[in-house]
Amino acid sequence: MTETESIEYDVVVIGAGPVGENVADRTRAAGLSTAIVESELVGGECSYWACMPSKALLRPVIARADARRVPGLSQSVQGPLDAPAVLAHRDEYTSHWKDDGQVQWLEGIGAELYRGRGRLAGPRRVVVTGPDGKERVLTARHAVAVCTGSRAALPDLPGLAGIRPWTSREATSAQEVPGRLVVVGGGVVAVEMATAWQALGARVTLLVRGKGLLPRMEPFAGELVAEALTEAGAELRTGTSVESVTRENGTVVVVTDAGDRIEADEILFATGRAPRTDDIGLETVGLRPGSWLPVDDSLRVTGHDWLYAVGDVNHRALLTHQGKYQARIAGAAIAARASGEAAEGTEPWGAHAATADHAAVPQVVFTDPEAAAVGLSLAEAEQAGHRVRAVDVDLSSVAGAGLYADGYKGRARMVVDLEDEIVRGVTLVGPGVGELIHSATVAVAGQVPISRLWHAVPSYPTISEVWLRLLEAYRG
Ligand SMILES: Cc1cc2nc3c(=O)[nH]c(=O)nc-3n(C[C@H](O)[C@H](O)[C@H](O)COP(=O)(O)OP(=O)(O)OC[C@H]3O[C@@H](n4cnc5c(N)ncnc54)[C@H](O)[C@@H]3O)c2cc1C
Repeated sequence: MTETESIEYDVVVIGAGPVGENVADRTRAAGLSTAIVESELVGGECSYWACMPSKALLRPVIARADARRVPGLSQSVQGPLDAPAVLAHRDEYTSHWKDDGQVQWLEGIGAELYRGRGRLAGPRRVVVTGPDGKERVLTARHAVAVCTGSRAALPDLPGLAGIRPWTSREATSAQEVPGRLVVVGGGVVAVEMATAWQALGARVTLLVRGKGLLPRMEPFAGELVAEALTEAGAELRTGTSVESVTRENGTVVVVTDAGDRIEADEILFATGRAPRTDDIGLETVGLRPGSWLPVDDSLRVTGHDWLYAVGDVNHRALLTHQGKYQARIAGAAIAARASGEAAEGTEPWGAHAATADHAAVPQVVFTDPEAAAVGLSLAEAEQAGHRVRAVDVDLSSVAGAGLYADGYKGRARMVVDLEDEIVRGVTLVGPGVGELIHSATVAVAGQVPISRLWHAVPSYPTISEVWLRLLEAYRG
């Protein structure tokens, strides 16, 4: 390899998932030449093995559950889901795992795509090993943005790889419904995939090490989702760990720490995520391979003025929308610094500081019922030292909820900061609440005073009237 082979750009982005794409979009829009390196498919985990396929699998499940709760309609939707049609729609939605559309989009914004594995080779240098084994050196005049995302983390169980367990990749791309599926884990991926595959015809057993589901949310979220999953026919075992797992004549055999033996056709480990940083040359710039990359609010890696880490890889909030938000900010910060501006996040609009990451992250769990939350839970707010009070509302008391579904079941919590009289967090659980959470995000991120919230009048008869009930409950 000679120096003449090095190609210079203003910005080099490693990883063309949703986050890398958005960094490139912003730097290109600012007139900076940008190369983007991708080792698999442009569009990343989200498009092919995460958000898109999982939501395509869940949409008919949720729509059918909603329809079954509407008098006059429920009789027409009592049958099973058409699993082959659902899987075929999922395949369409993931563009059959082809990235032509997204490659075209990259071309449209004028970013240069390099197919292959990108590795740092010292400050501002990235070596790309292409599919043909050929190496190219890219040099960044201003910034390298690491957007390599995360992968499923498997537990350390002897012989696990040999039994070909499902991770989120297989759970979102499987072409057949397994007869029996064991799901290990109680977080978002576990409950969403348990919901989808149970409704598609699998008999699901959920093994959860902790006390309940969705441990990062208010406790009632996990309780309501657990109740519904059980009603749907899934078996839920909490306080249960996997001791060993083998495959005998094709059948998965799980032995739990209680000594129980469970047989299944497939086993999904939804047991967390690990950063994709083990082989990206971090050691060449003094960082530890395999680690999450800590960043400041402009997404710059601590101690490196040219290196950014954006999206899952920095471990701030492992969500596409939050990663894309960071990407917009990182892109703006790179452009500002390239043009000599300070970009220290001091502008009133905070264009270069990802402040929402700290206390206003929204998340929707696409189960039946849906669970949606933004900001801090009561426990988190107390831990952070805020003096807060939580008010709860039974969603069945809201007129719009009664219209939405017969026998509507759900709950809402608003966590109010008693010093500043603003909302620190909101959690909503119930059918249809996913589309409501943005109202709470505006209240939390905007730090809207409770006294003003009374003047944000929700339409009648919508589930949004929960806001009135929450304010009334707070006023007492
Ligand atoms: C089952 C599941 C469902 C989810 N559902 C949702 C949802 O509904 N909503 C939501 O907001 N979030 C969801 N998420 C989270 C979401 O998928 C991630 O937050 C998002 O994909 C992160 O985007 P990213 O660009 O940081 O990383 P990724 O999407 O992981 O993209 C990283 C890209 O970098 C590439 N790459 C890695 N290493 C290299 C290298 N050395 N050289 C070149 N390229 C490299 C990868 O091939 C990949 O294309 C879900 C996650 C899972 C697992």
